[in-house]
Amino acid sequence: MTEPAKYFVPGPTWVRPEILAEMTRPMIGHRSAEFKELFRRINPDLKELFGTSQTTFVMTASGTGVMQAALENCVARRVLVTTCGAFSERWYNIAESLGYEVDRLDAGWGKAIDPDNLADHLARHHRAHYDAVTITHNETSTGITNDVAALAAVVREEAPDALVLVDAVSSLGGIPVEVDRWGVDVCMASVQKCIALPPGITVVAVSDQALARAKKHPYRGTYFDFVAYKEKADDDSVPSTPSIPHFYALAAQLDHILRGEGLAARFERHRQMRDLTHLRTARYAKLASDPAFASNSVTAVSPVLPPETIRAEMKKRGYTLGGGYGIWKDTTFRIGHMGDIPLADLEAMLDALCEVTRA
Ligand code: PLP
Repeated sequence: MTEPAKYFVPGPTWVRPEILAEMTRPMIGHRSAEFKELFRRINPDLKELFGTSQTTFVMTASGTGVMQAALENCVARRVLVTTCGAFSERWYNIAESLGYEVDRLDAGWGKAIDPDNLADHLARHHRAHYDAVTITHNETSTGITNDVAALAAVVREEAPDALVLVDAVSSLGGIPVEVDRWGVDVCMASVQKCIALPPGITVVAVSDQALARAKKHPYRGTYFDFVAYKEKADDDSVPSTPSIPHFYALAAQLDHILRGEGLAARFERHRQMRDLTHLRTARYAKLASDPAFASNSVTAVSPVLPPETIRAEMKKRGYTLGGGYGIWKDTTFRIGHMGDIPLADLEAMLDALCEVTRA
């Protein structure tokens, strides 16, 4: 009997025991025929997950590394960062640390980026030319899902030569992502969120246009060089030694997501987890963010009791919840309802929360 999930942090999330077991397989060399075989199992499934017929990679780094990679490969001078919380602000900090000229369009914490504001900003500022615009699909610090389809369409219209870089870290595998249909150039996701693997690798989709741009940049570094990754991917390989245990786990998990549970059912379960969380927390907590853009994978709430008291009481019952993040640290807590968590386990956790808050 599998133990119930008691870990409700918005990443890393609960991992199924059979996936943990995949990571204990005997080691193979990354230049071996067995590795190429494993690579060939993963790649078509990754393309399906991202909704792309272009290029996909698996990079051995956490998501932040691949956010940096996206900027290093795609930006020569100037970038526009759209912000609405801590993780979208991370793009800004990375871009500044790389010495780019960075502009920011800020929606404020708890709000979604408004496509009209983006159109207005680009109409006024793009003459100075942005190489790229960054968008955070699911802002994990606030529990907001941005409308990437609408935002990317605005970029295509107002700044057609700017690349669209999307962080899908806490959405891919739980909330629909359509890289080709939306016109996204780089889309990346760490695997410890809705994909429900242990942390350590990041999956990424890269458009032909982004690869062409990368080729023009002589100083795009070595470890995260998209062009080198593409050359190796064409030979079912990778440029340097990857986390091979993660490759086994990813192959098994993609099989489960696409052909076991099925993507549509998985998206629906995430939607149901969100609705249940909203319904069951409403008596003792307010949603911290705009309900119109509420995330299906994470909810931030402002409770009547101090958030830390609630989390400590839940810990005594064996449950781990996410703390408030950044400027919302003291006023909110977060419930991660993502990955492979069964609805019944979420219900049991929400029952315990009701007891703790005496709601
Ligand atoms: N972007 C978002 C939306 C996130 O939620 C996180 C982590 O929680 C990151 C980026 C950073 O990812 P990582 O911790 O894998 O570097």
